[in-house]
Amino acid sequence: MSLLFEIAKTSEGGGRRAELVLPHGVVQTPMFMPVGTAATVKAVEQGVLERIGTVERRPTSQNRDVGHPAGQPGDGVQPTSQNRDVGHPAGQPEGGVHPTSQNRDVGHPDLAGSDVGNAAGRACGAGAEIILANTYHLYLRPGHELIRRAGGVHRFMSWERPMLTDSGGFQVFSLAKLRKVTAEGVAFRSHIDGSRHFFSPEHSMAVQIALGADVMMVFDECVETPASWERTRDSMALTHAWAERSKKYWVEHRHEVPWGRQGLGIRGQGSGIREIGHDGGGDGAAGVGGGFAGKHQALFGIVQGGMYADLRRESADRLVEMDLPGYAIGGLAVGEAREVTREMIALVLERLPKDKPRYVMGVGYPDEIEEYARMGVDMMDCVLPTRAGRHGLLFRREDPTDRSSAVVRLNIKKQDNAEDQRPIDEGCACMVCRRYTRAYLRHLFASGEPLGATLNSVHNVAFYLETMERVRRELARGV
Ligand SMILES: [Zn+2]
Repeated sequence: MSLLFEIAKTSEGGGRRAELVLPHGVVQTPMFMPVGTAATVKAVEQGVLERIGTVERRPTSQNRDVGHPAGQPGDGVQPTSQNRDVGHPAGQPEGGVHPTSQNRDVGHPDLAGSDVGNAAGRACGAGAEIILANTYHLYLRPGHELIRRAGGVHRFMSWERPMLTDSGGFQVFSLAKLRKVTAEGVAFRSHIDGSRHFFSPEHSMAVQIALGADVMMVFDECVETPASWERTRDSMALTHAWAERSKKYWVEHRHEVPWGRQGLGIRGQGSGIREIGHDGGGDGAAGVGGGFAGKHQALFGIVQGGMYADLRRESADRLVEMDLPGYAIGGLAVGEAREVTREMIALVLERLPKDKPRYVMGVGYPDEIEEYARMGVDMMDCVLPTRAGRHGLLFRREDPTDRSSAVVRLNIKKQDNAEDQRPIDEGCACMVCRRYTRAYLRHLFASGEPLGATLNSVHNVAFYLETMERVRRELARGV
């Protein structure tokens, strides 16, 4: 098994409230994945990521494979009285009230001991349920073989929840120097030190298997923008051929994933670092099983075709024929008008199988991810919340008491924040808004203090997660 995808409810607009069950845990969808390029979501520590957002009820061990407790169809997202003190679900009387420090770190009392993920006996905090890491970056530094020896990227970075790796294709085409593309693959020079490298579909798969994310992506060519129809068609054909080769390699080698292996001295040398990835029972030996027996990585295809409707449809149809566990839409949000992005997504969604997860890569602003989720996109990722945060750009709601109101950007650098004693967003339940003022955040930014980048990033990521949580709640209600 690589994944299960259980749709609880589909709205009139096509939005789906579902659960994605992956080897390292269950992810509620539609969802947003924070981007951890170099096995770190920049400036945000893993423990913070785990409890960054507001709380929602997670499935327990009894229902993780079917998605919903009997008798509660579509109700899997309603917070219970046990956990409502942490965060503040919209509509609850607590909305807008900042919980006190005494309860802000409380986990899920009703989930302690559940086997969500592979971490029995450990309570899940609310937060990011899945993050993304970049294959290109980890291949170059520290190297995928080093990460394989450490037991895979989960163990290397101490992140027990699901992960996704991209194929490296986008970075090879956007970051690397002196690329030469042939049918076999891409020769390029590292953007770090100019060293020579070669990526083929097979090599990208080998690297991604060594990293061991729950979901990996086929190796694709990313065409420059704008590109002619002919150029886009040729690139798309290459992407399809590479997808076939990616699939073949994945089928033949997916058992090589390093899950459950002991790291070779990277951790656990009597250092007191807890062992992760174990089931917590028996002799603790994970072996190749250790909760992962019979499980392997999932491979997603990537629909290309630039901004051409006919090519997009053809690409979707070709990939669907390959019968992959999930499908992504790539090559969007590369400078085209937003209406074009929406049009391309809509026409591709029509061609993709309804019972498989759909992922739009590299989008977008908070209002965009909400819009696409309501169209039927299940997964999205973007560097925007962390990148904007590092630049002092913060997202908030125009009316803090109305979490569906317009998204407004707050530039924390501005002088008028210097003595503003309000939080970034008075309706945000994140750990930053509960504790710090705009005045303090502006001071940190103006002083170049690294904590400023961290706090700004934490709020922005929490804002994205909260947005998706609300969308899930509304989709579950059929809104
Ligand atoms: Zn906040």
